[in-house]
Amino acid sequence: MIPAQFSYQRASTVDEALSLLAEHGEEAKLLAGGQSLLPLMKLRLAAPEVLVDVAPIDELRYVRLDGDDIAIGALSRHQDLNGDPVLAEHAPLLAHVAGSIGDLQIRHRGTIGGSLAHADSAADLPAAILASEGVLVVRGPSGERRIPAADFFLGPFTTPLEPDEMLTEVRVPKQTGLGWGFEKFVRRAIDWAIVGVAVVGKSVGLINMGGTPLRARATEEALASGASPEEAGALAAEGTSPVDEPHASTEYRQHLARVLTTRALTKAAA
Ligand SMILES: Cc1cc2nc3c(=O)[nH]c(=O)nc-3n(C[C@H](O)[C@H](O)[C@H](O)COP(=O)(O)OP(=O)(O)OC[C@H]3O[C@@H](n4cnc5c(N)ncnc54)[C@H](O)[C@@H]3O)c2cc1C
Repeated sequence: MIPAQFSYQRASTVDEALSLLAEHGEEAKLLAGGQSLLPLMKLRLAAPEVLVDVAPIDELRYVRLDGDDIAIGALSRHQDLNGDPVLAEHAPLLAHVAGSIGDLQIRHRGTIGGSLAHADSAADLPAAILASEGVLVVRGPSGERRIPAADFFLGPFTTPLEPDEMLTEVRVPKQTGLGWGFEKFVRRAIDWAIVGVAVVGKSVGLINMGGTPLRARATEEALASGASPEEAGALAAEGTSPVDEPHASTEYRQHLARVLTTRALTKAAA
C-alpha cells in the first residue's frame, strides 16, 4: 500500500521540531520510529501533509536518575530501555515490558514517546507507565507542561497533546526493590496483546481492556486491604468493557484479565 503524498522535514533539535510544528499546524505529524504512523499512512487512515522526522534528535534519547525519579527521553527506543542499567535496577518492569514489544526490528525503531503519544490501548508501555504513576513532560510554543499518565489517555488514540506540542520526557518514580510482574496473552509470538497486565508494587495496569489503558482499581483497593493475589486478581475485570471481537469476546478478555492479573500479582509478591 502506498501512502498519500506528503512533504518530509527533518528536525535535529527539539526547538527545530517545535518551530516546524508551529509553522505547519494540524497538517503536520511528528515521525519518531514510524512503527505506528507509517502503517496508518499506508492504509490511508492517516494522511499528514508534512512529516517532521524527529528521530535524529539525540538529545531526547536517554535514561537517567533525577532525584527520586527516573527521566526517560521520549525518543528512547524500546531496545534502549530493554538494555538500560538504570531501568534494570530502578524500574525493571519497564525494561522488561520494552523488551517484549513486537520483534527486534520494531524495538530498534519504536520509541517510548511514540508509543505513548499514539495511545493505543493494546500497546504495552502505556499501561506500564500508568501503573508506574508516570508523568509526561510536554513542550509547546508556550513552554513546558507536565501531564500525569492518569490524565493522558483520554480515549482510543486520543491524548491532550496539541498539534503544536511534543512529548519530550517520561518520568517515573524509582521502583527500586518493589515486586513487579508482566503478563501478556498473544496468539503468536510477536502479536499485540489480546489482554496484558503490568504490576508494580500494588499498582496494576491493564492492556486492551477498554478504549484506553486502565488501572485495575478494584484489584488495587483489595490489595491495599490485604487481599491475596488470587482474591485481588479475581476483581481485575471489574468496571471494564473490552471490545468484543471474533477471536476474543468481551467475556473471554475479562476471564484473561483475572487469570493474568493473578499470575502477575503472584510474581510480584514472590
Ligand atoms: C508489526 C508491529 C507489531 C507491534 N507490536 C507491538 C506490541 O506488541 N506492543 C506494543 O506496545 N507496540 C507494538 N507495536 C508498536 C510499536 O511499539 C511502536 O513503536 C509504537 O507504537 C509507536 O512508536 P514510534 O516511535 O514508532 O511512533 P511513530 O509511529 O513514529 O508515531 C506514532 C504517533 O505518535 C506521534 N508521536 C511520535 N513521537 C512523538 C512525540 N515525541 N511527541 C508527540 N507525538 C509523537 C506521531 O506523530 C504519531 O501520531 C508494533 C508495531 C508493529 C509495526
